[in-house]
Amino acid sequence: MNKYKTTIGLEIHAELKTKTKMFCNSKNDPDERKPNVNICPVCMAHPGTLPVMNKEAIKYVLKIGCAVNGRCADFTEFDRKNYFYPDIPKGYQISQFKYPLVLGGSIAGVKITRIHLEEDTARSLHEQGDYSLVDFNRAGIPLMELVTEPVIHDAETASRFARELQLLLRYIGASDANMEKGEMRVEANVSVSKTDKLGTKVEVKNLNSFKSVERAINYEVKRHINAIEKGNSIIQETRGWNEEKNITFSQRIKEDAHDYRYFPDPDLSKLMISEIPEFEEKKLKTLLPELPWNRRKRFVEKLGIQQETSYMLVANKLLGDFFDEVVGSNKNIARLAANYISSDLMGINKEGDLLGKITAKEMGLLLLMVKDGVISSRGAKDILVIMYKEGGSPKKIAKQNGLLQESDEVALEEVIKQIIKEHQSVVDDYKLGKTKALQFFIGQGMKATKGAANPSVLGSLFIKHLPKT
Ligand code: ADP
Ligand code: MG
Repeated sequence: MNKYKTTIGLEIHAELKTKTKMFCNSKNDPDERKPNVNICPVCMAHPGTLPVMNKEAIKYVLKIGCAVNGRCADFTEFDRKNYFYPDIPKGYQISQFKYPLVLGGSIAGVKITRIHLEEDTARSLHEQGDYSLVDFNRAGIPLMELVTEPVIHDAETASRFARELQLLLRYIGASDANMEKGEMRVEANVSVSKTDKLGTKVEVKNLNSFKSVERAINYEVKRHINAIEKGNSIIQETRGWNEEKNITFSQRIKEDAHDYRYFPDPDLSKLMISEIPEFEEKKLKTLLPELPWNRRKRFVEKLGIQQETSYMLVANKLLGDFFDEVVGSNKNIARLAANYISSDLMGINKEGDLLGKITAKEMGLLLLMVKDGVISSRGAKDILVIMYKEGGSPKKIAKQNGLLQESDEVALEEVIKQIIKEHQSVVDDYKLGKTKALQFFIGQGMKATKGAANPSVLGSLFIKHLPKT
């Protein structure tokens, strides 16, 4: 297998989260279920209408460009990409060809070729009978396209790139980028070669999860190698991914770029980006949040969080924000906070309601109680469930539910003497040096205090009261 070199380049589209469409003021609402309501004469391409650029969409792409250390264009323009399909009402798609908004940059070590802006197509529905339906709600929604260099050599790196981009889009607020909703669409170009020269590439579409991205790439690599071994050649084409069968299938032989007859759209003005104050790179950079990869680095290096946990905390911006707020200036609860938030909280919360009724301040108090041994870690988990569902102060909840650890020695001593009196045979075992005996006594102590005692305090008190071994 090693004599073959796999090469992958990605093309990723993402619907931008603007209020209105790219060239008109129809609503941009990807959740609208009723077909053909968010439309107007402009996005329906009625004769005599004129497109007007959406400034927010341009700003989002420039911000993404800054975040990936790309070069933002001084000058840009929009081009017409001509082709016919029922889902493009104008007979062309407004896109960018020669002057993309962003050139270069990288994410996770993968070089980016360009990022440009275009409009989304309508949605065709081929579900019924011998006709198709078209829903134009999506037509004209601002769509960002990012193209990478052919520098990826394995499926995992490809899907990691896509995950990092998704996270970036969400951190910036540029897109919700849900792949299953088609808000982010990944196309993988794959080739295999025996020499240093790149092999013939095949483009795989319809990948609507990260898993499909990996599976489809691995499938293609195997298919290419098989073909090469048999002396067959690979044809340059577009293939689809069949999710059920886990295979790719031929869709169409790819058009060459010049077939689209790109030319600058005469209805739109050219943009001197560098002369528009709002688009100034320095200004845009100040609008960026802490980027996910920088945040992970800070969590690991400054707060001593495990690498794996940092990934979990940063995977959702809200969770990372919450973690930061809980820790605040109290760095010595950082690790405890990381564990409770990434594992316990993630175990009880429901989709769409990450934090329930828990506030950062009360979460911080809960952790301090754990740290000081006021509650056990078992008790903290129970309190957390109540805090999530009903809210409230952890101290109050602990008191109400008898979860405060009894470390009041005088009260405990009575309990301990009683237990010892009732279990003379175990005391004999203990005298013989059986460590299990002490465990038994601690267990009895926990039982008698309904779990409210601190086990280590119990242990030392039993040792104090039991005969010396
Ligand atoms: P096209 O003109 O066919 O769209 P591009 O040169 O624009 O091709 O490249 C599209 C994508 O394909 C890019 O992500 C690029 O990195 C990738 N790519 C180009 N050549 C290869 C190849 N031989 N193997 C794998 N990926 C490739
Ligand atoms: Mg291309």
